[in-house]
Amino acid sequence: MRLAVLKERRAGESRVAATPETVKKLKAMGLGVAVEAGAGLASGIPDAEYVAAGAEMAADAAAALAGANIVFAVRAPEAALPSGTLLIGTLGADAAAASAFAAAGIEACSMELLPRITRAQSMDVLSSQANLAGYRAVIEAAEAFDRGFPMLMTAAGTIPAANAFIMGAGVAGLQAIATARRLGGRVSATDVRPAAKEEIKSLGASFVGYEDEESKAAQTAGGYAKQLSAEFYAKQAEVVAAHIAKQDIVICTALVQGRKAPTLVTAEMVASMKPGSVIVDIAADAGGNCAATVPGEMIVTPNGVKVLGFTNWPGRIPAAASALYARNLLTFLTTFWDKEAKAPKLPPEDDIVAGVTLTRGGAVVHKNFAA
Ligand code: NAD
Repeated sequence: MRLAVLKERRAGESRVAATPETVKKLKAMGLGVAVEAGAGLASGIPDAEYVAAGAEMAADAAAALAGANIVFAVRAPEAALPSGTLLIGTLGADAAAASAFAAAGIEACSMELLPRITRAQSMDVLSSQANLAGYRAVIEAAEAFDRGFPMLMTAAGTIPAANAFIMGAGVAGLQAIATARRLGGRVSATDVRPAAKEEIKSLGASFVGYEDEESKAAQTAGGYAKQLSAEFYAKQAEVVAAHIAKQDIVICTALVQGRKAPTLVTAEMVASMKPGSVIVDIAADAGGNCAATVPGEMIVTPNGVKVLGFTNWPGRIPAAASALYARNLLTFLTTFWDKEAKAPKLPPEDDIVAGVTLTRGGAVVHKNFAA
């Protein structure tokens, strides 16, 4: 069996799906591993390190794919894969893309669809990448902010601590809270899921938010936030508006699975903020939580607020993101590996397998897309 790792070609994608550490382990499982030249460069991994780990370097994608049975990717590859290939990545497929995989005979597994169950935690690419995105968001906010996070008491006088407000306290938001606290900020946070309130407090941040009967049931069985009513969002906005006017830093991380991210910071709220304040919108990939966000860009509003709407936040910390992502994929493959046959074994009835498998035997089988 051969496994190929391609150089990512999508705009702004700096991550890679295998590292020298995971290549060594893939080799130990009995796999031949081909890595396309330059695949790790944007994550700080030279080709020589892959070679030292036992990989064969391939000059281009076609050479890496020759004879490959399995492909590890970050995003859906643009290159045509051989029929029968097991493709594992964050494919972000819609119904049309899933049908195209099926038509091409590709066995596609999309890791962002992984169920959020305890057994799947070590393969959970959404968690590993969101954690780093939350950290990076605060670091970039600190860099863009023209003051500082901690209170600075100097002989020349005192600079107050920054007020940082984290919107959405899932995996990214909780890491953002912890990072902003470590930098010395005065941190508050909001969420709609009742469980998040206690988690916010346990990290030493204050909770600011609106709660009612509807928000008591705001969490799905899978642990995600539900889409809530327009009335709820209006009440939430009332509570949040007064608070945002006093913030120096706002970090937006709120998502509702399968939908556009909710708009939580309106144009009026942005206009109420002081010049020099910073909004970081890591929900920009899903349309953004802030009305002023321009996905992919940093803008400065007429009242002097910087809005960082960059996309692919994990890709802004690529070495760490690749290290964790590569381990997530390795864990998935080792969990579903037949040691005797030295081949993948993906039982369709397994919760994790059923959660991620888009296509099998030329047909779309995922519940989100199957006709
Ligand atoms: P996510 O990325 O889908 O959303 C980020 C956060 O935004 C969530 O906390 C959500 O409640 C919040 N949000 C949505 N609408 C909002 C609004 N209007 N205002 C404020 N906040 C809003 O979430 P996630 O980080 O993927 O985490 C989702 C859940 O899954 C959490 O409960 C997490 O603990 C759980 N989880 C479980 C596992 C596991 O057991 N394997 C792994 C990872 C996460």
